[in-house]
Amino acid sequence: MPQKDAAATHPSPTPSIELGDLTRQVAELLAEKQSPAQRITDLCTLLTFAFRAKSVSILIEDAAHSHMEYRYDLPLGSVGETHACRTKTIPLKIGARFMGVLTMTLRGRGDLNERDELTLEACARYLAVSLRNAILADLNGDLRRLIEVDALTDVGNRRRFDAAIVTEWRRCGRSAKPLSVVMIDIDCFKEFNDRYGHAFGDACLRQTAQAISESTMRASDFVARYGGDEFAVVLPETDSPGAVTVAENIRSAVQKLRIPHDADRATSISISLGIATMIPTQEANPGSLVEAADRALYCSKASTRNRIFVASYAVQVPEQRLFDAAARGERPQYHDSVKNALRRRSD
Ligand code: GH3
Ligand code: MG
Repeated sequence: MPQKDAAATHPSPTPSIELGDLTRQVAELLAEKQSPAQRITDLCTLLTFAFRAKSVSILIEDAAHSHMEYRYDLPLGSVGETHACRTKTIPLKIGARFMGVLTMTLRGRGDLNERDELTLEACARYLAVSLRNAILADLNGDLRRLIEVDALTDVGNRRRFDAAIVTEWRRCGRSAKPLSVVMIDIDCFKEFNDRYGHAFGDACLRQTAQAISESTMRASDFVARYGGDEFAVVLPETDSPGAVTVAENIRSAVQKLRIPHDADRATSISISLGIATMIPTQEANPGSLVEAADRALYCSKASTRNRIFVASYAVQVPEQRLFDAAARGERPQYHDSVKNALRRRSD
């Protein structure tokens, strides 16, 4: 039955959309940047008015075979009179992959004409493609998580750290801003594992990672598990005094967890930290920055632990003391204002 006749038989109080234009509108709607749920609900509304239907519902089946239904019902007042209804159901498929069904409840008894059928099938195909793209986008997000996030602690993993330090090195180099790295290692963690077991060890690693993450303040700060019980924090556009502030926040946050552990004079889990700061130059590289921070961490371990060492300077907790890096043959490159600021701190 031609569309004109259908409209005459079942007058609608709302204007219908030209069917010739419908597939384009459906494609545009599904490409919009709203949430998939909003797009599918809008699609139900669009199809209801376009086909002068009583309702359109879209049932979606996810990979776990659970179902989600979206629908639009024409408001009762708009229907006017009651007509006998029939339903038209179209499976949403790509190849053999079943994704759900589109069900349209129409007023009257006749079938859709051939052109309407083809239009509706085209709309269902657009929807199926859009659903597949949404599923792929989800999968890509999951894959990215697997590749970049440490499964135990939920912070970035070593691979993500290696990429982040190179990116931030280049970025800070372009703007001649200081880049800081804080290396962190849990004190006497082997003993903790041996005494309480690996399950408690894992829980301790998770809590420590969370305390570290919560102590960083800027969106650009980045926390990663460097390996074992070692964590690394990248602080872009942060000078050494700024990094010391963040490091001290981290140190005290872990201390406040009060995870019991009586080893090496301590009564609870503590961490040692090493900081290095550089303004990236052509002569240096991100590896030299990480190495400098690692050496500072080593100094903290060789000292009394539960301490922060800053490259060629030591920041003791609670007081500060000069650490003679030159005597160890270490000459990392530091920003002068960093040295001055640290000198001021230790005065
Ligand atoms: P230090 O104060 O010098 O750092 O002493 P430490 O005992 O912490 O020595 P180290 O950092 O070398 O020990 C790392 C320990 O971390 C060894 C291993 O038992 C533990 N570890 C590494 N990865 C994991 C993990 O995924 N889960 C648990 N539970 N323990 C881990
Ligand atoms: Mg350790």
